[in-house]
Amino acid sequence: MVRPGKQSVEAALIFLSVAQLTAGLRCVCHLCTNHTCETAADGACWNSVMLIEGKEESVKSCLSPSEMKGQVFCYSSRNVSKRNCCFTDFCNNETLHLQPERPLEGPGWSRLQLAAVILVPSCLMSVGVLLGVVVVQGHCWAHKQDLEEPLDDQMLMSSDKCLKDLICDMSTSGSGSGLPLLVQRTIARTIVLQETIGKGRFGEVWRGKWRGEDVAVKIFSSRDERSWFREAEIYQTIMLRHENILGFIAADNKDNGSWTQLWLVSEYHEHGSLYDYLNRYTVSLEGMTVLALSIASGLAHLHMEIIGTQGKPAISHRDLKSKNVLVKKNGTAVIADLGLAVKHDSSTDSIDIPSNHRVGTKRYMAPEILDESFHMNSFESFKRADIYSLGLVFWELARRCSVRGLHEDFQLPYYDLVPSDPAIEDMRKVVCDQKLRPNVPNQWQSCEALRVMGKLMRECWYANPAARLTALRVKKTVSQLSFIKDVKD
Ligand code: ADP
Ligand code: MG
Repeated sequence: MVRPGKQSVEAALIFLSVAQLTAGLRCVCHLCTNHTCETAADGACWNSVMLIEGKEESVKSCLSPSEMKGQVFCYSSRNVSKRNCCFTDFCNNETLHLQPERPLEGPGWSRLQLAAVILVPSCLMSVGVLLGVVVVQGHCWAHKQDLEEPLDDQMLMSSDKCLKDLICDMSTSGSGSGLPLLVQRTIARTIVLQETIGKGRFGEVWRGKWRGEDVAVKIFSSRDERSWFREAEIYQTIMLRHENILGFIAADNKDNGSWTQLWLVSEYHEHGSLYDYLNRYTVSLEGMTVLALSIASGLAHLHMEIIGTQGKPAISHRDLKSKNVLVKKNGTAVIADLGLAVKHDSSTDSIDIPSNHRVGTKRYMAPEILDESFHMNSFESFKRADIYSLGLVFWELARRCSVRGLHEDFQLPYYDLVPSDPAIEDMRKVVCDQKLRPNVPNQWQSCEALRVMGKLMRECWYANPAARLTALRVKKTVSQLSFIKDVKD
């Protein structure tokens, strides 16, 4: 029998450990369905504990390779937090404690590696796994020495950091999809709630204060944990951040012994929803154009797939309506309430349907959803249904556009055709059987911008989904409106 030489054994071990490193890992995850997550190749399992209000709170999850580059994850700070990255399946299952400090294990590993090579050459597989750990540990130590001081929460959360800085740090650190979980939790737990500002399907929305800044906090009841999780997950989709998508800040689940409080923290917009805004104010031609352009841009960004490792899947909103669009101080808008959104996985052409059964708002449902001819397995269908709803939102907006002092009152689409809380059947009769759509007033023909808006909304709410415009087309047409003379006057 030919006995392998020491060098070939080492080569085989290195090969095995590299192979192990390039496959994904399964880890314990507090915020995930089934409490399990899977990392991308070269990711890690993450285990952390932090002192919050005098109590040790632990978070476990998966880390992506880009989050590991973010440098905040694998390092502990004295007495405040301890973080551990590890590289075998479910290695983050242990519970970490802050006190007493455990000495770093380390220099003995290479000897152990040698001993393993010499003593158990026949157990190639098990030693391979061991060496895998050694390689990664070595990499982590080397990395650690690059840092003069461990990066701790005090630094990350230094008192002069406002939310914009933190979010900006996050996008330059390469973690891409959101603030680190511990930072999210720390922010959420230092918010002081001020007043309720909205009531939706899943509980209340509050205005809160964080270091003097206003934030919005959507509080879900523990019954709606899935909706909370889904919305947090969608907001943390890589590359989702956009000036016309509500800026997500943090998600937190706090167990107070008898129930779990589920928070979703986002940027606060004092004008509230487009629905509230249009009820209160009329808009100028320019104001209408700016709002329409930002809604179309937000939707075009959601719908767009960005290809690449830092890519973004195409997303469909599924509940677009004036109550789910918020108006910013500068007169632009953001799309909010992503709790019903679905993502498209183009590599398998599959849709990750959320696990709750909520469907969109009946009044804004596309005809093909109302009459059940909707093709659930085609992602294009989801985008086309969003465009139908966009047409209705444009109609609500254009009615409030004041030209030479003339405008209409605020109304919801089909206000004159269905009862105030319409059933699917009410909507189906009007939208599918009678093929009615909101009225486009004749006087819009005498103003170029309103004429274009009228034409656009008709092209968004065609009965045939394939005939509808795309979000990108709507965005381009609206952006040309800003060059029309009467918009500027
Ligand atoms: P739901 O899923 O329950 O419908 P939404 O996210 O749509 O919850 O919020 C409900 C309402 O709360 C919105 O229509 C809006 O009036 C208000 N609201 C939500 N988020 C914000 C925010 N970030 N700033 C200001 N108002 C908000
Ligand atoms: Mg809503």
